[in-house]
Amino acid sequence: MVSYQQNPIDHNHGSSTHTSCVHGHTHQCLDITGPAIPTSDGNHVHHSESWVMHEQGHSHYYKSVSGPALHLPNGWHVHDWNFYTTVDAGHRHHVMGPDMPAQGT
Ligand SMILES: [Zn+2]
Ligand SMILES: [Zn+2]
Repeated sequence: MVSYQQNPIDHNHGSSTHTSCVHGHTHQCLDITGPAIPTSDGNHVHHSESWVMHEQGHSHYYKSVSGPALHLPNGWHVHDWNFYTTVDAGHRHHVMGPDMPAQGT
């Protein structure tokens, strides 16, 4: 019998959130991050870039790096995100908050 052990670095995260409200609208932000990237202190981060949902005749792009893994009591972890989208149609949006939990460290 072969026991399967997941490499703790072998995961990514999804998230479903909304940007900040600017000029009376928000954009839905459905994100899937890239793979985990180890940091020198033994933690890891994720990169992500994509478009937010088209709204009010425009969309915004973003490219960001997450915060370090924040461990949950059940052994899973999340990352905090805090970034601005590109400026389109004369404004940009702020996106912040945790993504969805993933297994591993
Ligand atoms: Zn992670
Ligand atoms: Zn906008």
